[in-house]
Amino acid sequence: MTGCIFCKIASKQIPANVVYEDKMTLAFLDIHPVNPGHTLVIPKEHAPTLLESSRESAHAVVDTVQKITPAILAAVGSPAFNLGVNTGSAAGQAVHHFHLHIMPRFDADGRELWHGRETVPGELEAVAAKIKERLE
Ligand code: AMP
Ligand code: ZN
Repeated sequence: MTGCIFCKIASKQIPANVVYEDKMTLAFLDIHPVNPGHTLVIPKEHAPTLLESSRESAHAVVDTVQKITPAILAAVGSPAFNLGVNTGSAAGQAVHHFHLHIMPRFDADGRELWHGRETVPGELEAVAAKIKERLE
């Protein structure tokens, strides 16, 4: 899509530290890494988020994650990783071309995980019912 920075990276109009490429996907290092080896995987076909992405593209992105993550972890000596998909501005999505973050983790690296909270009785049942209603 015109003006989309990740489309420009996919079409080689702007440079990136590409670590893997195949017919449907591209993987390159994030310019502001959370930890060494922080990699973004994108479909070459433009879609703003996972939800608008074609099934083929979405599956190809996951195939690429499975294929390249062991090499990323080995390259930076990391024993673990988080996958991240920020979807929508409220969730922190800054680049509106679907991408998946592979973020290597290290013991005691200080990167916090989400903190859950206690629920009130009936809360989870009510939310589950509302979701299921919409999936019927
Ligand atoms: P988000 O949309 O919040 O999931 O994150 C977008 C990510 O893209 C950020 O982590 C940026 O550091 C990264 N980013 C933005 N522009 C580039 C670029 N030209 N090359 C590599 N990474 C980029
Ligand atoms: Zn794009």
